[in-house]
Amino acid sequence: MINWKTHPSFNGHEDVVAVGDDALGFAGFIAIHSTALGPAGGGCRIWNYSEAEALTDVLRLSRGMTYKNAMAELPMGGGKAVLYKMGADRAACFAKFGEQVEALGGRYITAEDVGASVADMRAIAGSTSYVAGLPKEAGQAGGDPSPVTAQGVFYCIKALLGGSVQGRTIAVQGVGHVGFHLCELLTGEGAKLIVADVNAANLERAKALGADVAPADRIHTVAADLFSPCALGAGLNERTIPELGASIVCGAANNQLATEADGERLVARGVTYAPDYVVNAGGIINVSAEYLGETADVVDARIRAIAPRLLKVLEAAKADGVPPHVAADRIVRARIAAARRA
Ligand code: NAD
Repeated sequence: MINWKTHPSFNGHEDVVAVGDDALGFAGFIAIHSTALGPAGGGCRIWNYSEAEALTDVLRLSRGMTYKNAMAELPMGGGKAVLYKMGADRAACFAKFGEQVEALGGRYITAEDVGASVADMRAIAGSTSYVAGLPKEAGQAGGDPSPVTAQGVFYCIKALLGGSVQGRTIAVQGVGHVGFHLCELLTGEGAKLIVADVNAANLERAKALGADVAPADRIHTVAADLFSPCALGAGLNERTIPELGASIVCGAANNQLATEADGERLVARGVTYAPDYVVNAGGIINVSAEYLGETADVVDARIRAIAPRLLKVLEAAKADGVPPHVAADRIVRARIAAARRA
């Protein structure tokens, strides 16, 4: 295995283990970035790429989970799994993967991420209890996290627009699981939508809500009160930031800033940026509540806490004269350091 402690994306990770099974034909990594605040929570991504790419991804994603979970004040650290090769007998692979999660003794809690399904989580649950993302029971937290993520983003958008979206124009980039639910919430309270997607079927669903459509490569430029990135990461970069048509950015996509410098670029352009991991914590809030056996009411209270927290981050950024993503990172680091001291 590649030495992860000398890897450029290494960031004080506590552990990285190779998982998989040659006979079953699957391979991957579990990275535990931090357990300072609790077991390392984060989904399992299934993606077809090289071992080296998977290691880079798992190191970066697990670190991101530490920050997201700490910011959301969850009793969880950060971790992630990436499976970069999947065998023909998928259920058997996940059963074996479950054994490998179990062997970590609860230091890592898995759930769905890109490429994984509820059926996969069920297969894992046959070998370990350190798994979430299973179908929910009445009144309990669980199930598809996307509507919960969308709800948190929606509250943040409302807060950033002074409490109401009525008559305001929102440009939504990507109307998939989260983006579409967000569009429903926005139109439900009288917002005007301009949307873009590269998936025609997803676009049709959003059009049925009355949304106007912009080309996928121009959505960030349209004149709007707020731009909401809900597709892939790195959409805020050297090229797109000078072209932004809205003065506020708030969306669900992970890793929206291509580089740290892009956070500075947004400030220089007078754009208010709502740091992604502050805003999009709804999914992990849902997963954490499911794992901890909490109710849907607890999830609702935690989702409602996201927007006030975002406003505090933006105030701290202003007070300290730093970009919002830097203010968010500082809050998280202080929280983790305090937990370590305690
Ligand atoms: P998804 O795959 O269901 O939706 C993404 C949508 O973006 C798809 O419709 C896709 O066609 C579209 N898209 C891809 N490239 C595009 C482009 N260049 N321009 C416009 N549209 C494009 O994914 P999702 O679950 O809705 O997640 C969306 C984002 O939010 C991702 O970055 C994800 O990591 C993040 N996120 C999701 C959750 C969750 O609960 N699902 C939680 C936290 C963060």
